[in-house]
Amino acid sequence: MCRSITFAPGKKVKLADIDPAGVQGDWTKETAAERVKENSLVTQGLADILYAENRHAVLLVLQGMDTSGKDGAIRTVMSGINPQSCQVTSFKVPSSEELDHDFLWRIHHATPRRGNIGVFNRSHYEDVLVVRVHNLVPEKEWKSRYQRINEFEELLVDGGVTFIKCFLHISKDEQRKRLQARIDDPLKRWKFAVGDIDERKLWPKYQQAYEDALSKCNTELAPWHIVPSDRKWYRNLVVSELLRKTLEKLNPKVPAADPKLDGLVIE
Ligand code: ADP
Repeated sequence: MCRSITFAPGKKVKLADIDPAGVQGDWTKETAAERVKENSLVTQGLADILYAENRHAVLLVLQGMDTSGKDGAIRTVMSGINPQSCQVTSFKVPSSEELDHDFLWRIHHATPRRGNIGVFNRSHYEDVLVVRVHNLVPEKEWKSRYQRINEFEELLVDGGVTFIKCFLHISKDEQRKRLQARIDDPLKRWKFAVGDIDERKLWPKYQQAYEDALSKCNTELAPWHIVPSDRKWYRNLVVSELLRKTLEKLNPKVPAADPKLDGLVIE
């Protein structure tokens, strides 16, 4: 058994109390990899039926500090899923057109249609994270956003979307190692931006902003999952498990065939 860490709505999260290297159950790197493979097969089949049924949508939201492994988790858990039935959206610094709209405009546009699995690599939560840490809008504005996010997510849930919101929790020391590895490996250097060092200096402010986002937007309808992510294999295991369990719970069904097709022979 492996589990993400969840907490009751209304409860204040303290990230310092959660071990980013924690592992639940007696998993090893090898047994976890086997399970992830099995999850992938199950997920692929269920995603095909979700698509055929065209009733529900799933939205996997991935947030985390730089190097927390959003890209790696996506590569692992989405591998093998029919590309027609899923979309990954990576949210970058908003364009001037996006900034000329409300903060949820670009997000709403990217939400998955029925039958599909959407993945957000960063999301609307950036609007209460980086935006808050760098004072990109007045405090009054970002403070109003938690409530707006909850209402927006409720709207989507009412429209048939099931959320899987994951915070990939890494330690500051693990980030140091991963940033260093990016500098040292010529094939990974493209991932490193000098600005990453400045962001790292803001670690405590980001942790505080994350604690607020996780606590204020942890609703019954769209709960947060904290994923201990210092071990990449455990992170992948937990996220793949969440996707599998979500699809199993939705239990999509192949649409009933037209009875007129019974015994029909094509000549
Ligand atoms: P990533 O780090 O996700 O692999 P990038 O290096 O292109 O990709 O970083 C994307 C950047 O866009 C991040 O620094 C992130 O904070 C920023 N960003 C995303 N959404 C917003 C937003 N709403 N406002 C300001 N910056 C944002």
